[in-house]
Amino acid sequence: MARISFKLLQQSVEFHNPSRDWQLDRQEIEIRLDPLTGHQSILSGALKGKISILFPETDYGYIQQRVEATKDRCFMCHGRWREATPRFPERLLPEGRIARGEIVLFPNLYPLAPYHAVVMIGEKHGRALDEFPTSLLHDAFSVSLEFIKRCFELDPEALYFTINANFMPPSGGSAVHPHLQVLGSPFPTTHHLLLLERSRAYLSDNGSCYWLDLVETEKRTGERWLGEIDKSRWLTAFSPVGVNEVNAVWPDASHFLEWSDNDIQAMAEGVRRALLTYHDLKFSTFNYSCFSGPLGQSAPEFRCFFRLVNRQNITPHYRTDDYFLQKLLKNEIIIYRPEHLASLIKERFQV
Ligand SMILES: [Zn+2]
Repeated sequence: MARISFKLLQQSVEFHNPSRDWQLDRQEIEIRLDPLTGHQSILSGALKGKISILFPETDYGYIQQRVEATKDRCFMCHGRWREATPRFPERLLPEGRIARGEIVLFPNLYPLAPYHAVVMIGEKHGRALDEFPTSLLHDAFSVSLEFIKRCFELDPEALYFTINANFMPPSGGSAVHPHLQVLGSPFPTTHHLLLLERSRAYLSDNGSCYWLDLVETEKRTGERWLGEIDKSRWLTAFSPVGVNEVNAVWPDASHFLEWSDNDIQAMAEGVRRALLTYHDLKFSTFNYSCFSGPLGQSAPEFRCFFRLVNRQNITPHYRTDDYFLQKLLKNEIIIYRPEHLASLIKERFQV
């Protein structure tokens, strides 16, 4: 096993500050580099005073208004999905969709990949972040895995799948009704490819798997370690790509076909616990993506990997949290120091 090094660059900035009688102000910033990709995130002590501007508190009354205003025309509510959502061809899904309990999987009407499914998560139209029970998430992820298996059986060239979600409009979600999306293709998305390529390079350079080294290093140092749920390992990201990033790794599974029902259950339970903490912090939206190695292939360099981040809170006329820094420069601002975030979430992982 190689020990992972977490690199920090300290920089200082000077300017004459009008709120301090034009005296010379000196601020320290810390730039963190992701050990695998080199992704940069920036921690600034001065930003603490600006959090309420960058991430204004959620307006729960406004959420209720949006939920009420959208439910009558929701294409998922009250079984409307039966008439309003597309069906997959019979050669892929003889029944057209997968419906199990409160979960329904159907094709995206505007597909972005050869295999692109939407999964309705429950019959309730509006949900807060403390209203995602493990059993509901388990069923949603379980149906997603069933879809992935069927796609791969039909098309063994469809090797690269991700399970993803936008929750509420500031995250990019166009439907308020909770849902997730499964994407599958013969080639990986840009970030998926980067993770796979850097993982291969790490194995070649170090003779060990980055993901196993990451888990061992984070567990030993403990600052960002959240805990274990069955075989999954949970932590906060050293250099997050989004706000309040929570990660999980499955050390025994390189790709989704190696997942057992216990692995699905672990993902559901971990997501529930992280969302409860986001709710405590009054964040109200999220994105996640779960990455798999190529289906059915031995990939000693990779392990299934999950990223969960917050997005801008819901308020009237909300401002996006992605500006040039994230969208074009591909850096991110750290709002809660990852070690502090871990301390806020950890209790829920040690039950
Ligand atoms: Zn609905």
